[in-house]
Amino acid sequence: MLIKDNFDEALKFSESTNEFLSHYQIPASPVNYSVTYLHISKRNEKLTAELERHVQTFQEVDLTFIEGLFEKYISNSHIIDRQILEPIEKSLTSTLEKINLQVDSAKAATSNLIKAKKALSKHEHHKSMQNIVAFLMKNITFSQQQHTDLSLDLTRTCGEVNFLKSKLQASRNEVIVDSLTGLYNRRGCDIKLKELDIEQVHSSLAIDIDHFKNLNDQFGQVIGDRVIQRIAKVITSSISDNDIAVRFGGEEFVVVMVNKTKTQAHQVAENIRLAISQLKLMQRDSKAYLPNISVSIGVVQREEELNWAAIFEQANTALYQAKNSGRNRSVCL
Ligand code: GH3
Ligand code: MG
Ligand code: MG
Repeated sequence: MLIKDNFDEALKFSESTNEFLSHYQIPASPVNYSVTYLHISKRNEKLTAELERHVQTFQEVDLTFIEGLFEKYISNSHIIDRQILEPIEKSLTSTLEKINLQVDSAKAATSNLIKAKKALSKHEHHKSMQNIVAFLMKNITFSQQQHTDLSLDLTRTCGEVNFLKSKLQASRNEVIVDSLTGLYNRRGCDIKLKELDIEQVHSSLAIDIDHFKNLNDQFGQVIGDRVIQRIAKVITSSISDNDIAVRFGGEEFVVVMVNKTKTQAHQVAENIRLAISQLKLMQRDSKAYLPNISVSIGVVQREEELNWAAIFEQANTALYQAKNSGRNRSVCL
């Protein structure tokens, strides 16, 4: 029976996963749980083979080994969502829907039996029938209660799966987002670039803060970091949601502008440059203003045959032209 299979499978895998984790005294963190679930559900032969070999050799499973398996077989892909959480969620949701249907039909049966009991109570000679109805009602109410309990359990488990999914999304974001600015880091940039429709025209900006070392030396790293954050905000508020803003290195940024020619991108670069040159940044403690900040920007358009590394290199060439011709300017190649 489909309901039973789905439910049994989801339950069996998660129970065996928990047993495995507790047997080897491994905490049920998302990483440990995912590796173990993948092994238990036999959805990744290589992972299972490696894990079994390890257990055979060492008779134990340590956290470093599990994390290694996670790195090797899971972390770089959406395998957790696709192979673990989505099937569990699908199976739980469908089981839940079916159980709720059963709860509803048991409710209808109970209400019919109540009507029958009422009708029978008017006739004394139907005493034995009344007893049968009472017996049936008791049984149905009991099974209804069991279904309701099961439904509550499943709803809670669905909640846990969703929680796990959002935790995974958050940790996935952590890997691709720069913690200081909230912009993508290089890894995030690589991932986002792969999602672009390469048939469209795209342009790129390379942005570098001018004489930033002086500011850092004069006011310290903490103020320097605040300036980087402020500049990142100007960049994100000047571009479209689809564009990709990246903190490429310390005080260097890259923007990939989706579906924009270099003329349009140059206009955005000028908006960013002007907005930054007009910032009035005040030191919180001394209330003194920081000196004016400026950036130099290189702008290029992606040519069909070029890969992104080559495009960024061209944008850097344009950036250095901007630096060499006096800074606080943008140069379009
Ligand atoms: P230019 O106009 O030629 O770009 O000069 P510059 O001083 O900005 O360039 P340079 O490459 O000589 O110095 C960059 C400085 O950026 C060096 C370092 O002090 C600072 N820096 C790099 N990463 C960070 C960071 O994460 N936080 C802070 N506060 N400073 C950083
Ligand atoms: Mg630099
Ligand atoms: Mg610089």
